[in-house]
Amino acid sequence: MAIEQDTQDQSSHYDINEKLATQQPASDFKIEELKVTGKSNGLLDFILHPHQAKPAWTNWAKNQSCDPAEIFNPETLEDLIKIVHKAKANNKQIRCAASGHSWSSTSVTDGYLVVVNKMEKVYTPIWDDMLRSWTVKIETGVLVKDLDDVLRKNNPPLALPSNVVLDSHGAATHTRTLPDLVSEVTIIDANGNLNTFSEAKNPKEFAAATVNLGLLGVIYTYTLRIEPMFNLHVTDTYPLLSEYFSNPSIGGPKLKVMVLGNDQTEIFYWPFNTPGLEAVNDRIWVKQWQRTAVLPISISPAGEAFKKWCQEYQTQFGDHLYEYMARNQSSAPFVNCLLYKSVGGKSSEEVLKAPDAIHYQAGIDNLPCVDLEMGFRVNDDFSNVVVAWNYVIDQLYEYASRGEFPFNLTLEMRFVKSSTMLMSAAYDADPEAIYCMIEVLSVNNTPGFDEFSSKMAKFWMDNFQARPHWAKMWEHVPGIVPYLRRQGSERFDRFEAIRKKYDPNGMFLNHTFAGVLGH
Ligand SMILES: Cc1cc2nc3c(=O)[nH]c(=O)nc-3n(C[C@H](O)[C@H](O)[C@H](O)COP(=O)(O)OP(=O)(O)OC[C@H]3O[C@@H](n4cnc5c(N)ncnc54)[C@H](O)[C@@H]3O)c2cc1C
Repeated sequence: MAIEQDTQDQSSHYDINEKLATQQPASDFKIEELKVTGKSNGLLDFILHPHQAKPAWTNWAKNQSCDPAEIFNPETLEDLIKIVHKAKANNKQIRCAASGHSWSSTSVTDGYLVVVNKMEKVYTPIWDDMLRSWTVKIETGVLVKDLDDVLRKNNPPLALPSNVVLDSHGAATHTRTLPDLVSEVTIIDANGNLNTFSEAKNPKEFAAATVNLGLLGVIYTYTLRIEPMFNLHVTDTYPLLSEYFSNPSIGGPKLKVMVLGNDQTEIFYWPFNTPGLEAVNDRIWVKQWQRTAVLPISISPAGEAFKKWCQEYQTQFGDHLYEYMARNQSSAPFVNCLLYKSVGGKSSEEVLKAPDAIHYQAGIDNLPCVDLEMGFRVNDDFSNVVVAWNYVIDQLYEYASRGEFPFNLTLEMRFVKSSTMLMSAAYDADPEAIYCMIEVLSVNNTPGFDEFSSKMAKFWMDNFQARPHWAKMWEHVPGIVPYLRRQGSERFDRFEAIRKKYDPNGMFLNHTFAGVLGH
């Protein structure tokens, strides 16, 4: 990662476009310059392991892979533009990947795969007078952890008001999700031109460009609104499941008071966390964050580092047990109960700097897992949240009574304010609407997860018009594409019109989103 001084003036980028267009005829530049990695399975590999030919690219969860015609590892804007010119000349399609942390098939291509991990410049944060906010411009491959580090070290220290748990949609209810912090995005379109999208310049196109799913072109930079560093008071409690999730008309309003009173709220449930194959004594983990300007930080940097180190080891230990559980389905109640006893159940509170508080759990990326997540609009008394949640618990125990354990890791929910971004799962015309993001996770290779998660999705779709988190698993849900077309065709058609303007021939379109966009 490199920190760059930058005037954040886009005009120079347009110069680069012109220079490349004149200096570099699309057909004859050298691919070595672009750090092409190509396919990873060489001939020798094939001869030695004829039955084990590995795909050239696999995502983190190992549920998606592909053998692209070429894989590129660009480092500069010029590299990105050259790749687009080359794809145009050779009639190839392009998809991008960063850390490959998405479960959906969004990066899968047999054309050019552009891996953007080396596009990792973070520009010096600036105060934007027009936005009345600090902003930071980052290249497309920057890791959240690296961005956090630069912001912390800035004078004054700065932070993202909303973030994700992995050093990688956060739970921030009032400050919305990460895409809603974007003030500008630059994207190279199918002609190799760099386009700048900002709310001030063109709000309609901006609403498509911010959550663009790689469909408008190759993203070069994002500029995000950030804030002076702040502290969060974090409380962890483990109430009985029944405290919030018994009767929807009682539990819903209780949840509402809690969620609206917090900056962020996240609720977890580990299946079978008490013995006896019944939910009556099961507990949930409720995590609440509130901003504080008065309470002091309660843990030293060394203490925080030690905590993260312990979490890494805890998750590694847990992961071995989870892998055993995936192979031995019926052990799920025992293993989960044991893990819960060893790590859960101890209420606590602490005050932490925002990034430490939000990235509260290290090592969650140690265990490859499967994950379906959907978002739906919360009704006025939050009762639909209780119904959505209870359906999962009821089904969990119904399956268990038949000796089936397809859901074995966590049920989780968080709450975000709506988004104006066309392709957002939390899109809503009402800016004050609250969306519940609910997900079920199981350990990789757990038999029956697809069927179980599809059943949950269908219930949430039928009852609450839920929409998928595009990065998670959703393509396996029967009938989901026609459902999405019925539900959101006007919104998707608006996106499609903008997409076509920047990519008329579908250079960046793959099968993942084709159906949703009406192809
Ligand atoms: C352990 C774990 C925890 C997670 N926690 C959360 C969470 O708390 N909240 C949440 O919302 N999600 C979460 N996710 C999901 C994850 O944040 C998203 O999948 C995210 O998009 C992954 O980022 P990535 O860099 O790996 O992107 P990738 O999966 O590599 O790519 C994501 C998408 O962006 C496109 N893309 C990437 N770079 C470009 C580019 N330069 N131009 C055009 N298109 C591009 C890709 O084609 C793809 O469509 C989690 C995932 C994991 C594995």
